[in-house]
Amino acid sequence: MKTSNEKLQAYAELLLRKGVNLQAGQRLFVRKAPVEQVEFMRILAQTAYRMGARHVEIFWADDRITRTRFELAPDDSFNEYPTHQTEAMVEGAKRGDAFMAITGANPSLLDGIDSRRVADAVRAENQAMSEFRSYSMRNAVNWLVAAVPTSGWARTVFPRLAPEKAVQRLWEHIFRLCRLDLDDPIEAWEEHATEIAGRTDYLNARQYQALHYRGPGTDLMVGLPERHQWHGVGSRTPKGVEFIPNMPTEEVFTLPHSRRVDGTVTATRPLAISGRTIDGFTLRFEGGRVVDMSARVGEDSLRETLETDPGAARLGEVALVPDSSPVSRSGLLFHNTLFDENASCHLALGRAYRFCLADGEQLSGDEFAGRGGNSSMVHYDFMIGSAELHIDGETAEGSTEAVFRSGEWAF
Ligand code: ZN
Ligand code: ZN
Repeated sequence: MKTSNEKLQAYAELLLRKGVNLQAGQRLFVRKAPVEQVEFMRILAQTAYRMGARHVEIFWADDRITRTRFELAPDDSFNEYPTHQTEAMVEGAKRGDAFMAITGANPSLLDGIDSRRVADAVRAENQAMSEFRSYSMRNAVNWLVAAVPTSGWARTVFPRLAPEKAVQRLWEHIFRLCRLDLDDPIEAWEEHATEIAGRTDYLNARQYQALHYRGPGTDLMVGLPERHQWHGVGSRTPKGVEFIPNMPTEEVFTLPHSRRVDGTVTATRPLAISGRTIDGFTLRFEGGRVVDMSARVGEDSLRETLETDPGAARLGEVALVPDSSPVSRSGLLFHNTLFDENASCHLALGRAYRFCLADGEQLSGDEFAGRGGNSSMVHYDFMIGSAELHIDGETAEGSTEAVFRSGEWAF
């Protein structure tokens, strides 16, 4: 049985209409489109043109070519990044274009590669992308991260299935988690957005000054800055284009105070960073900074990640996701942050989103930092949720209220 074209068509429409919300007359950039799924990319481009796109620019990616580069290219070449892509995107952001990034590369693609090569390449890419990100992190443009399976990713999630079956099974899970199995997916997304808005409204009104996390291997206080804003599902550009930057998305999130995080936190799911896996890790924070860490798998990768720049050892996101979320209920480990982060409460190392502070978009870099916003080239979500996680909110008066009990919303 093949993945039906109707399903791919419905997925393309959901991503373009409800996700990035492509406007007639906009140009669309698509990064990291997998060559393996050229058929889906053709459908996506055709749908975009039918919606009135002026131009669809696709930047292709291929796991095997990427792996070959890391095996054969000279040592000193990994500091370079092909800036024609990032320059075109910055130009596009200034012009008001729309942006999609595809996730779905093999999570263990770079296993066994010299970690200095990977670290150099990650740094070069983050540097090259930083100007574009100054637009997307402020929601100055409509953008979306969505998944398209590769055979390497599918094999990791379903190691016992034949390769073609694994890809097909992964597509089915992506469709279901994006609510495409429902009669009216667009309406289902609107209902979902309304439910999430109820949570963010409540938390925004409470304005907790800190969250206290307790669970196995976790006892962590995360300070929240004054006038922090909780977000979920929907975003909006200054021109009023409403878009959903991640599909699927189940999270409610804001920014932590980068200098008020203390205690220990233990990850509950593995973290895939740039083709390498980090698992079984614990971080200890003092005054907002990681001062101690250990990992059962990938400790070197974790250390390199924390040393990327000063902000990489501080937090930039706190996100709440009930343990009963659809991704969690699937019982699958996706080895892909877009999915696994929506199965679990998580934190992120690295940069914070400007729009998580009231008036954050207007602040200078120093003002943002002064109010507790973290800056870094990197932003890595890591999962800390489970059915044994409890979270309390500390009010300005110093009393505590239940926010999460046993992995579920407590209000
Ligand atoms: Zn998140
Ligand atoms: Zn994040």
